[in-house]
Amino acid sequence: MSEDSNDLVDRTRRFIADHVLGTDDEFDGDVNASGGDGLRVKLQEAAREAGIFEEAGYSLFGPMALNIAAPDEGNVHLLDQVASAAQRERYLAPLARGLVRSAFAMTEPAPGAGSDPSALRTMAARVSGGWVINGRKHFITGADGAAFFIIFARTSGFPGDSGGATAKASNWSATWARRTGPRLAATARWR
Ligand SMILES: Cc1cc2nc3c(=O)[nH]c(=O)nc-3n(C[C@H](O)[C@H](O)[C@H](O)COP(=O)(O)OP(=O)(O)OC[C@H]3O[C@@H](n4cnc5c(N)ncnc54)[C@H](O)[C@@H]3O)c2cc1C
Repeated sequence: MSEDSNDLVDRTRRFIADHVLGTDDEFDGDVNASGGDGLRVKLQEAAREAGIFEEAGYSLFGPMALNIAAPDEGNVHLLDQVASAAQRERYLAPLARGLVRSAFAMTEPAPGAGSDPSALRTMAARVSGGWVINGRKHFITGADGAAFFIIFARTSGFPGDSGGATAKASNWSATWARRTGPRLAATARWR
């Protein structure tokens, strides 16, 4: 690595050690308890002062290189909050290590869900050994080549109802999705 790169790595490490880890430990990873948006502003100011805030954003490749590109970073946090031990091992561990990429399938063609999950039309039904998911999704960032999808589907109710939304992790492949066309249906091996 060049001297500049080494310096950046050192400054980033120091920043995480000096400004982030103590707060994370004190509040056990709970961002809201540690100050929510106030904490975000404070940490970002500190990152600017440390000269590291813009580094990942200089290039489209930056977030990818640091394993903080969408939707993987969000999916890491989501899985960290809700995944079972088996799901952590199967989905979270390889994603957090940067060994695989993931996708997030929420948005549906009109009149399905976009920003409002209560409009979800995709249905997930329990069957022996897993789930069958039926629905249509689009605008899935990074779908091609993703190792797994987190799919938002409804397990009860009807479009417009506020309950019934859930998320399933599935090892669908984009090749498989393309083969089956716009109507996606699969027995997702998910528990
Ligand atoms: C670059 C890019 C990448 C994307 N990647 C992904 C991805 O990886 N996975 C994924 O799932 N999606 C992805 N999306 C889709 C994106 O998440 C949706 O476009 C977004 O959620 C908005 O949904 P929509 O376009 O259907 O708009 P809508 O949800 O239809 O919203 C349109 C307008 O209607 C309003 N509105 C919506 N519902 C209501 C309501 N019930 N009451 C009142 N007003 C309402 C909204 O506030 C908004 O002003 C991506 C989009 C882009 C542009």
